[in-house]
Amino acid sequence: MEIQKLPHIEQYLNACVQCGYCISVCEAHHQTPWESDTPRGKIYYLRQLDLKATGAMDKVLGRDIQVSPEFVDAMYKCTGCGNCEAVCHANIPLTDLWETMRNWLVIHGYGPMPVHKTMAKKVHQVHNPYNEDPKKRGDWWPKEVPRYNPPDAIFFAGCTGSYRQQGIPQNGVRVLNRAGVRMNILGEDEWCCSSPLLRTGTDSESLDCALHNVEKADGMGAKDMIMTCAGCYKTVSMDFGRYYAKAGQNVYHFSQYAEKLIKARKLPLNHEFNHTVTYHDPCHLGRHMGVYDPPRNVLKAIKGLKFVEMTRSRESSRCCGAGGGYKSQYNNFAVRIASERIRDAEATGADVLVTCCPFCVVNLSQGAKAIGSKIKVMDLADVLLEVTAPIEAVPASAAAPAKPAVAATAAPKA
Ligand code: SF4
Ligand code: SF4
Repeated sequence: MEIQKLPHIEQYLNACVQCGYCISVCEAHHQTPWESDTPRGKIYYLRQLDLKATGAMDKVLGRDIQVSPEFVDAMYKCTGCGNCEAVCHANIPLTDLWETMRNWLVIHGYGPMPVHKTMAKKVHQVHNPYNEDPKKRGDWWPKEVPRYNPPDAIFFAGCTGSYRQQGIPQNGVRVLNRAGVRMNILGEDEWCCSSPLLRTGTDSESLDCALHNVEKADGMGAKDMIMTCAGCYKTVSMDFGRYYAKAGQNVYHFSQYAEKLIKARKLPLNHEFNHTVTYHDPCHLGRHMGVYDPPRNVLKAIKGLKFVEMTRSRESSRCCGAGGGYKSQYNNFAVRIASERIRDAEATGADVLVTCCPFCVVNLSQGAKAIGSKIKVMDLADVLLEVTAPIEAVPASAAAPAKPAVAATAAPKA
C-alpha cells in the first residue's frame, strides 16, 4: 500500500536523541524482546516512514519502508502509560504522539486492532464497549441512596463502573451520601466517555459521545461532576475541553472530592483501618493529570492506617498494564505487568494495595491471583465505605473488623 503523508510530527522525530532512557520504563516492551516495540524503536521507525513519505531521496537510497503489520502491532503494544514521556530527555510529548499515530493508522486503514474495532462499533450502537443494554445503565445505583433533582453533583459511573465493577461506584455514592452530597446520575443518558476510542485511535467515533454527555449533564443543573474511574476523569476533564465541548461542571475524581469533604470535616471517618497500605497511581490520574496527593491525603487521614510508599510511585509509578486498549488486545501481557506491580507492593510489606480506578483494580487483582499473592487490592471507595460506616453499624468488609476511631473526623495529615 502506498504510504500517506504523516501528520506534522517531524519536530518530535527530529528531537529524539536515541538516548534510550525510555526503554527501561516501558512495561509493554518488557513483555517482548524486540527493540522495535520500544518507544525509541517506534520513533526510529516513524522517522524512516516520514523520510519515505517525503519521497525525495527514496530511490537514491533504496528506502523501502512500509507500514508493516509488525509496526502496527508495535504501535498498539503500548498501554499509553506515559512513563516514556516522563523520562524523555528531549521532552517529546510521547503520550499524545502515540495517540496521534494510532489515529493516523486508523484513518489510513491500518488500525485499530480487531478487538478495538468491535469496541468502537459497540460504543456507537449501544454507547458502551461491553455490548450491554443501555437501558440498564443506571441499574447499579444503590437503592438506599436518594437521587436529587436538581443535584449538587452528577456521579458519572463510566461503562466499567456501570456494568462490570459496580461495587466501586456503589461504594463511592454511599460514601458521598454519608457526607450529605446530593447526587444524581445521567442513567440511560450517560454514554461511554469515549476514552477507549480516543486511546485506540478511533477518535471520529467519539464525538457523539462527548457532545451527548456534555449536553445531558448541562441539562441537569449540577455544579459538580464526580467519577471513580481514572480514565473517565482524564477524558471528561481534559479531552472533552481539548477536542469538543468543555464539561459545564467542576469535574472531580472521587479522591479529590473525598479529600475536599475531609478537609471540610463533612466525611465521618468513624473507624480505624488497621492495615499497612500502599497506593498505586493510575496512569490516567497521576502522570496524565497530576493527581497524586488527594488519594494519599485521604488515606493518611484514616486512623490506624499505616501508609507506605512503593519505590516506583507518583511520576515514576509502574503502569498496571490495563490502559490504552492493551489489556483488551494483549491480556496475558497485561496480567504479567500487573503481577510485577503486585511484587512492588509486596516489597513494602503492605497487606492492602489501594488504587483509584476500576481498570487498575481488575488488572491488579488478576495479577495478584496469577502469582498467588495474598495482598488485598481495594479501590479507595471500598476503604472509605468501611471507615465511614455509622458507629453502630458493622463494617461491610470481610477484612479485619474496624474499631471506632478516637476522633470522629480527622483532617488530612501533611
Ligand atoms: S506510553 Fe508506556 S507502554 Fe507506551 S511506549 Fe510509553 S512507556 Fe511504553
Ligand atoms: S527518551 Fe526520548 S529522546 Fe531518548 S530515545 Fe526515548 S524518545 Fe528518544
